[in-house]
Amino acid sequence: MSFKDVKVIGFDADDTLWANEDYFRAAEEAFFDLLEDYMPRHSTARALFSNEINNLPLYGYGIKAFMLSMVETALEIGGKTLPIEVIHKIIEIGRDQLEKPVLLLEGVTETLVALQKHYKLVVVTKGDLLDQERKLDKSGLVSYFHHIEIVSEKRKEDYLKLIKHLDIKPHEFVMIGNSLKSDVLPVLDLGGFGIHVPFHTTWEHEKIDITIENNKFFHADKMEDILNLFIYE
Ligand SMILES: [Mg+2]
Repeated sequence: MSFKDVKVIGFDADDTLWANEDYFRAAEEAFFDLLEDYMPRHSTARALFSNEINNLPLYGYGIKAFMLSMVETALEIGGKTLPIEVIHKIIEIGRDQLEKPVLLLEGVTETLVALQKHYKLVVVTKGDLLDQERKLDKSGLVSYFHHIEIVSEKRKEDYLKLIKHLDIKPHEFVMIGNSLKSDVLPVLDLGGFGIHVPFHTTWEHEKIDITIENNKFFHADKMEDILNLFIYE
């Protein structure tokens, strides 16, 4: 199986082009510290995760949704005695996170430079529109991309819409990302190619335990390794 028909390469953004999950982990730790007098950290972690998942259909992904889930969790745990200072600190944790620098992952720029000469490159990212735009802007990568798609979910139908919009067929599309669940599986399902480039940490919600048997599925330990998969004319 080769990429000879491929016309467009899609890149996930968070934890594929730049580091993101580390900031969430650090923010969570700060939140657990804040509530340590009320509840052990692992119980706070469980309560927060459950609120995040329950809130996904209404709030979507991203930092602002995460902030609201922290507020709700703190109110549940602290009840009516929760000092207003805790809410203030949660807002601070979220605002800090929104202003973090965008740190590109190793080999990203080199890979985009090499591939953009031969393919149309697009970004497919889910999350909060404003925050994803902010990160793209700060990343300095915008000029490498033909199109940027910010979606609220990455399901099969979301990719199909994009593929149609790009005026190509699924087998002419490769998607590259750190999440098997969001970046790879839906595209394979459509008959496209998927390349998994794992990040060192994965959010609980994106974790799946699966062995993929598909000749359009590829794995690369790091971004630069994907260049070995493409043979240019
Ligand atoms: Mg990602």
